[in-house]
Amino acid sequence: MAGSIAAVDAYARSVEARVVAVDPTDRSLVVLDRTVFYPGGGGQPADRGMLFRTEDGRQWTVASARRAGSEIVHVLDLADGEPSSVGDPPSVGDRVHIDLDWARRHLLMRTHTAFHALCGVVWRDYGALVTGGNMEPGSGRMDFEFERMSGELVATIEETVNRELVVAREVRVAVLPRDEAFAIPDLIRTKVNLLPPGIEEIRTIEIVGLDLQADGGTHVANTREVGTIRVTGYESKGRINKRIRMELVD
Ligand SMILES: [Zn+2]
Repeated sequence: MAGSIAAVDAYARSVEARVVAVDPTDRSLVVLDRTVFYPGGGGQPADRGMLFRTEDGRQWTVASARRAGSEIVHVLDLADGEPSSVGDPPSVGDRVHIDLDWARRHLLMRTHTAFHALCGVVWRDYGALVTGGNMEPGSGRMDFEFERMSGELVATIEETVNRELVVAREVRVAVLPRDEAFAIPDLIRTKVNLLPPGIEEIRTIEIVGLDLQADGGTHVANTREVGTIRVTGYESKGRINKRIRMELVD
């Protein structure tokens, strides 16, 4: 299976699955026939959670996940289990139930959506492109090509982003054929187009009325779910490159 259910339904927290592969050299690496885990990417960290074996209820902590070619690999914490079976992964063919650490993931969805709102405001109001970004649950940073950024401007940006969030804009996910996606102006908002050349379909995230961009991450369905943000700092990373730090206010 190529993708995660997370790509189409960010609110899917758990799924029944079957183990299809266990890495023979590193037995903490497990592939399932389906998953709800986000494998990380686009500045959003991978999910964490739990794996339960249906047959005997044995459980494993899933410390992380990552993409490996067309598959999603779950990284189990094999040291964490009953003493008799520490170090053993589940077996190929086992039926399992996989569960996200939902509190963490939902916070990441709110954070990721907040950064798209920031990105949308900075692009619409100042025409600045994103050069990079990274997030943790509840906070993060985003870098822009934004020569004239100032403390005053950052305060205005914070206000504008909060005004956009509170009007409850719908957030839509779509998967478009490549040609259709590339016909959308400004879809690729990052300075460097990171999409692999051979890709046939492009997933887009739209904050209706504010922002539309190619993106692989997980987001909330409406900006009111984000709440309020606070800009916690900004820095110059050079004459042109500026960094904005932001967090969710709970
Ligand atoms: Zn994104």
